[in-house]
Amino acid sequence: MKVMKFGGTSVGSAERFKNVARLLLDRGRNIVVLSAMSGTTNSLVEIADYLYKRNSAGAQEMITSLENKYSGVVNALFETHEAREKARKELKGCFSYLRSFVREQFGENEEKEILSQGELMSTILMANYLRELGVDVVLLPALDFMRTDENAEPDIPYIEKRLLPMLEEHAEAPMFITQGYICRNCRGDVDNLQRGGSDLTASLIGAVTGAEEIEIWTDIDGMHNSDPRYVANTQPVHELHFEEAAELAYFGAKILHPTCVLPAKVNNIPVRLLNTMQPEAAGTLISNFPPSRTIKAIAAKDNITAIKIKSSRMLLSYGFMSQVFEVFERYRIPIDMVATSEVGVSLTIDNRRDFDRIINELKVFATVSTDDDMVIICVVGDLEWHNTGFEAKVVEALRGIPVRMISYGGSNYNISLLVKKENKIEALNALHKKLFIDK
Ligand code: ASP
Ligand code: MG
Repeated sequence: MKVMKFGGTSVGSAERFKNVARLLLDRGRNIVVLSAMSGTTNSLVEIADYLYKRNSAGAQEMITSLENKYSGVVNALFETHEAREKARKELKGCFSYLRSFVREQFGENEEKEILSQGELMSTILMANYLRELGVDVVLLPALDFMRTDENAEPDIPYIEKRLLPMLEEHAEAPMFITQGYICRNCRGDVDNLQRGGSDLTASLIGAVTGAEEIEIWTDIDGMHNSDPRYVANTQPVHELHFEEAAELAYFGAKILHPTCVLPAKVNNIPVRLLNTMQPEAAGTLISNFPPSRTIKAIAAKDNITAIKIKSSRMLLSYGFMSQVFEVFERYRIPIDMVATSEVGVSLTIDNRRDFDRIINELKVFATVSTDDDMVIICVVGDLEWHNTGFEAKVVEALRGIPVRMISYGGSNYNISLLVKKENKIEALNALHKKLFIDK
């Protein structure tokens, strides 16, 4: 069995639902994970926001407009009166539930309940539509098996213990369908796996069921070798290592959620990125065994601040680094890049929370200077250090561009370079040309 996850745009309209259903019928017995229709989760966030602000009228209005939208989808999707009425009735349940929150008490738990409705509505639509087409699909309620533990990490043993018997119980089922993103926390309250979390749902299900493959269906043909918004003629990357995919996802490639890589990787389940509009295209296959000795892709991450921290002594003494990192740890600010010299350390962060306080603390024992509006350019590929020539090409490509920091050797899969925001597009294009066109 495969796990097939469809993102919000893939189920963004009645037409798209039909398109996905057709695709599912061709592919047989699999576990299908659905996101909320595109725009729905954002609308639900807004509804919750009105409720936090105790603006009931605002919330009511948003709920009504969302309900109208879904009513239009129901009208366009179903052929038969029975199927249409059944879906309408089930959706009505969701909307009545949403309206029930327009009352005094509103907090985080209520917000999570509201956010969970989008994925539930997608599966109501798809399950009823597939049944109308004659497929007796089995709906697996994600809230019955998807769960996080005390550290808000997926509780894999629990997920396995709950999900596998559900699948066994329906040994004859022609297809399974479930909600992405939504789960319960360790207390059993409704929760979610963070925005974009449906990819993680798919990866977790793939891992615990030992799936043949995890397919992530979107509306782009796989992961591209550079960002098509800034570089012309980018190409899909056919094969990537899990580590490369993780670097790319973290450094800005929008296609796959970074957290989703790990469960698939450790269980050695390949992940394939596919395009619903072009289902026959090869897409991108992410596995533990991609081709070696090649550069795969370039990504960029914006809004980076560089901090240079120079020791107040002539030479770095032991303990200086831990003194520096301890400050960031205390404020829970992750560090992206690091470069060191004999007298100091430069590092980057992408989160400005408590920035002034952090800088003030560092100034107690060091000289500190900062550069904002920087961009990390990340070159990803098989950069195991014995492979010669790649670093040279990267540096050569950026010959005319001021580079603030370079980080290499932290993993076998990337070189990161820090440049100014205004040099980003030039840097991406220079690297693209050197690494993929001139080679
Ligand atoms: N619907 C959720 C979101 O918009 C989860 C997902 O689509 O992955 O973030
Ligand atoms: Mg997504």
